[in-house]
Amino acid sequence: MPPRFYSTRGAGEKVSFEDALLYGLAPDGGLYIPDAVPRLEPALWRYAESFADLGVEVLSRWVDESPKTLTPLVHDALNFPLPLVPLGNGSLGGGVWVLELFHGPTLSFKDVGARLMARLMQLFLERRGETRTILVATSGDTGSAVADGFAGMDSIDVVLLYPQGGVSDVQERQLVVRRDGVRALAVEGTFDDCQHLVKEAFVDPKLSSVPLSSANSINIGRLLPQSLYYLWVGREVGGYEDGIDFCVPSGNLGNLTAGVLAQRMGLGVHRFLAAHNANDFFPRYLDKLADAYAFGSTVATVSNAMDVGAPSNFERLYTLLGRETFEGLLWGVSVPDEVTKERIKRVYDETGYVACPHTAVGLEAVARYREETGDVRPVVSLATAHPAKFPEVVSETLNIAPPTVEALEALRGCETNVQSIAPDLAALREVLLSG
Ligand SMILES: *Cc1c(COP(=O)(O)O)cnc(C)c1O
Repeated sequence: MPPRFYSTRGAGEKVSFEDALLYGLAPDGGLYIPDAVPRLEPALWRYAESFADLGVEVLSRWVDESPKTLTPLVHDALNFPLPLVPLGNGSLGGGVWVLELFHGPTLSFKDVGARLMARLMQLFLERRGETRTILVATSGDTGSAVADGFAGMDSIDVVLLYPQGGVSDVQERQLVVRRDGVRALAVEGTFDDCQHLVKEAFVDPKLSSVPLSSANSINIGRLLPQSLYYLWVGREVGGYEDGIDFCVPSGNLGNLTAGVLAQRMGLGVHRFLAAHNANDFFPRYLDKLADAYAFGSTVATVSNAMDVGAPSNFERLYTLLGRETFEGLLWGVSVPDEVTKERIKRVYDETGYVACPHTAVGLEAVARYREETGDVRPVVSLATAHPAKFPEVVSETLNIAPPTVEALEALRGCETNVQSIAPDLAALREVLLSG
């Protein structure tokens, strides 16, 4: 039997995966966690034929659906490569791999969760004869991954809000390209205005006829797919009796929580390294310098997709693990921008590898961890975005031409679909009610 899901805040009924995915947040404001984690036999991931096949096997333990139903949908979602690249023998030492999660359509790891969540949601909604409008405020990666992942789903459309003039050129190109069922709104305001508008829309009585929904990383439907690539790595570098280490560039801690779920499913993990930028609540918490939930305010950095003062998945991680388990399993560090740039340069000089700023925060964490603990077991560091998404930082730091990639260049000629709106609820309401 697949697990049932209950709220981190303890109130309310246990629900199925389907309901947890469609609700997003539990009615008491908590996050959904499983009442038991399915235990997988190692053969399952050691001998999986492909990443998508592994996905079908694993998901069928979590979701009340047959492999036959899941197969087309999972294969359609997970249709890009996940190269595991050895980093060579730079100053990090041997046994360091980079797992490139950025070969999906919008070039960040968020494609994995967004694409699979979209297809599962479409399956459930179609069966129920219902529809949803996904409302998402974005300052970067999430918006394009969600827009792209959900585009073309018959039962779902997407409205995304971004601050006009407040995102990079590359990001804007990815946000405004015309997609089936997606409307992009350039809000004449800040990211906070966008987020505020979304919150207002959800509780606006005049919008009660619009079935709004969200798709952020508090949704178990986005999180669970991410645990698959940890298991997939287990296949490639498995066989280490006492486990390997994973390094996770972190913001909302969704990716790290997904790793913990994989470990609970039976993957041999020795330790997770939580690599944060100057937004340092979680490393401070792990070092006992901050109490649980004593969040900081958000600081802007060069690894902007990790600029999160109050990580939304902390509550889930805390409830899943409990304080004692944190100590053996998790290690964390906060890396300032200057050091991130030095790491981009050092890795490039030593190995020729071009890392995006988020990935570089991770590689710096690996260096610090190995220095501090002397632990030199194999470590897999997650590469969360393509360096071409951050051409300015990378080219300035390395003194090379800005990295490019065909998928981004091709967007230059594409038709766009974007509308400017004033930062007020009436303007957003008008868009949403016009269908
Ligand atoms: C979202 C994001 C992160 C942070 O992931 P969380 O799940 O929020 O911890 C890291 N790197 C990139 C490139 C991202 O887009």
